[in-house]
Amino acid sequence: MEPGERYQMPVSGTPWEVLEKELNCLKSNDIDWKHGKAAVFVHYAGEQALAIAKQAYTMYFSENGLGKRAFPSLEKLERDVIDMGLGLLNAPASATGFMTTGGTESIFMAVKAARDRFQTRHGQSRTPEILLARSAHPAFDKAAHFMGLKAIRTPLSSEFCADPAVFERYINHNTAMIVGSAPAYPHGVIDPIDQLATLSEQHNIWMHVDACVGGYFAPFVRMLGVDLTPFDFSVSGVSSISADLHKYGYAAKGASTLFFADPTLARHADYFFDSWPRGTYHTQTLVGTRPGGAIAAAWAVMNFLGIDGYKKVAQQITTCRQSLQDGLRDMGFNIWGDPKLSILAWGNDDQSKVHSVGNSLAANGWLVGYLTEPPGIHLMLNATHPDSLHDYLRDVRTALRSKGTSGPSGTTNEAGLSRGKTDATY
Ligand SMILES: *Cc1c(COP(=O)(O)O)cnc(C)c1O
Repeated sequence: MEPGERYQMPVSGTPWEVLEKELNCLKSNDIDWKHGKAAVFVHYAGEQALAIAKQAYTMYFSENGLGKRAFPSLEKLERDVIDMGLGLLNAPASATGFMTTGGTESIFMAVKAARDRFQTRHGQSRTPEILLARSAHPAFDKAAHFMGLKAIRTPLSSEFCADPAVFERYINHNTAMIVGSAPAYPHGVIDPIDQLATLSEQHNIWMHVDACVGGYFAPFVRMLGVDLTPFDFSVSGVSSISADLHKYGYAAKGASTLFFADPTLARHADYFFDSWPRGTYHTQTLVGTRPGGAIAAAWAVMNFLGIDGYKKVAQQITTCRQSLQDGLRDMGFNIWGDPKLSILAWGNDDQSKVHSVGNSLAANGWLVGYLTEPPGIHLMLNATHPDSLHDYLRDVRTALRSKGTSGPSGTTNEAGLSRGKTDATY
């Protein structure tokens, strides 16, 4: 095709064999994540779990999670998934929840619920505020932008997490929600959820824990004996928790969970409409139609792996993270914060040096994601990475030896730096 030319729908159909070949050809230009080249976007727990997720997804390919009357089996599968999630997050008997199609949707519905409760209490004249740390996910700002709230981001502590003392200074009569992350995506560290929840209880504010990336990982790391700061419903004052199944639940994409401490909180997520010719429309989610496959795949993978299976993968990933940290520290780099889960960000204060190493890694086929505060390279690990760990460290070492990168604390040779892409695109 010429540039600018519009792709045309064929007049007569094309056989699948031809299409499959073309898809494979197009796909060959994508990042080789199966060999560990990407530490973002993909979560993987091995071939067996992947095959089972695909099979279960296919069984429910056409079914729609919106249709509870038509598909009682999906309703049961969703309830089972929610129950398993609540169990992992130490939820009280009163707790409840539902599945959404992703972390952003879970966060949207938590923000919607907090906003609606705020407006029930205070009316509609004020602009409700969300208080969050600079490291929290952009989905909160997106939700605030879409739903007429104001997001206020606060500076991080020296450990790169939310600072409760700073939060307290920003709390006012418009604060509708306090957010803590478990962990936050940039540095992979868990915010002091208990201290934030204490604030929320004192001021009677909705407390949301964003465990989108940690909700199905941190519980297993804790079971492995790692001392983690409390982050779930065991903390008094937590109103809601978001946890993504399509991340470390290893489910098909399009699957997340949103949990509430009790049904009176969950009720604020409801949306009802009946002013049209087709009866009452009721959802708890932002979307209407929901992929039945994503619900079934989550259920199947959770049951297939079980606690032992998830613990095993968590062990592989945390061991890999520790080896990376040791290797990178040996080369003189810093690990930003004290990550204990699956994410790490490493670098040093010299941004051009970090970009120089990043460029060299990218030239060797690694997909590089940059941290900007402080300068670093971001990795979110999965079960492909234990096998690529040594190649990665070797390529970092090579980058340091190459022209223009005399080591993280060495002098900078500007001429050798930053020739490739160095933007911090997520
Ligand atoms: C991934 C993530 C989200 C958003 O999830 P999506 O599934 O990409 O919409 C929110 N918060 C955190 C901490 C995340 O890691």
